[in-house]
Amino acid sequence: MKVVVVDDALPNAMLAERLLSQIDFVEVSVFTHPQEALDWCAAETPDLVILDYLMPDIDGREFLQRFTALEKNRHVPIIVVTADEHQRTLHEMLEAGATDFIRKPVDPVELIARSRNLLRLREYQKELNQTVDRLHVMATTDALTGVANRRHFLERATVEAARSRRFSEPLSIAMLDADHFKGINDAYGHAAGDRVLADLADACRDALRSHDIVGRIGGEEFGICMPQTPLDKAELVCNRLRETIEKHSVRIDAVSIQYTVSIGVAAYRPDQYDAQGVISRADAALYQAKESGRNRVVVAG
Ligand code: GH3
Ligand code: MG
Ligand code: MG
Repeated sequence: MKVVVVDDALPNAMLAERLLSQIDFVEVSVFTHPQEALDWCAAETPDLVILDYLMPDIDGREFLQRFTALEKNRHVPIIVVTADEHQRTLHEMLEAGATDFIRKPVDPVELIARSRNLLRLREYQKELNQTVDRLHVMATTDALTGVANRRHFLERATVEAARSRRFSEPLSIAMLDADHFKGINDAYGHAAGDRVLADLADACRDALRSHDIVGRIGGEEFGICMPQTPLDKAELVCNRLRETIEKHSVRIDAVSIQYTVSIGVAAYRPDQYDAQGVISRADAALYQAKESGRNRVVVAG
């Protein structure tokens, strides 16, 4: 855990450093110039700041304001050290973002105990954030292919449809389904089929822009949401993707598997239907692509 000590008086700073270094897994950085501390905190994220309140140039209040203005520092605990006993000063510090305060002269036991408590909370908070991030990925991602899962894809498509309506921008959605996929499973086994699905998702990602959204709707069916893309452009993108997939093959050990996809694509029209409506129309176009021979793109009229 990284602790930053900011105090313009070097002896005070050194004392704090010596005390805080006694806490396990703590690395202390000492600054006698507040600006240098702020620069350091802009590049690195500390886990605790011990801040002297009365300093020339940048005082504690200004330091707090500038420190907490950085989003990444918003939850970093700050202990203010002050000789000023006025209740008004304490209020000012707490309102400016201080987590806690210690009176000068610093009582070593108090400084260590309060720092240890805040560092422990900080550690819980970081663990919790990591867990939330992990759960978020699990809740929104399809495990086999790494693209958005069905629910997340539909949520994102709904958001994009609302944006398209608000800004009167084009939006196209495509539905894609692997052709005769059952045959691939039957010929090469289910595990090989899984590898082909992962390959298909990769091919989609490679063919699209970073703000396009790919989702696995179910089985061997995928959705592609293309914001700011008119229908003719979306058709081109889908055809390029279809051709790329047709031309390449998935190598698994000694075998090389080739496959094709059928795609239906439709444009969002806010005056006629919602996001679900455009998905249904892309689905109907996909059905037509299957009926008319597969390995093709059909545009919903
Ligand atoms: P079509 O060209 O009409 O789409 O034919 P198809 O065989 O692709 O379609 P069908 O719906 O008859 O069969 C889909 C197959 O996809 C059957 C199912 O076992 C397989 N499948 C669905 N999900 C998975 C999966 O996660 N992994 C593997 N390996 N196969 C899957
Ligand atoms: Mg299929
Ligand atoms: Mg299918």
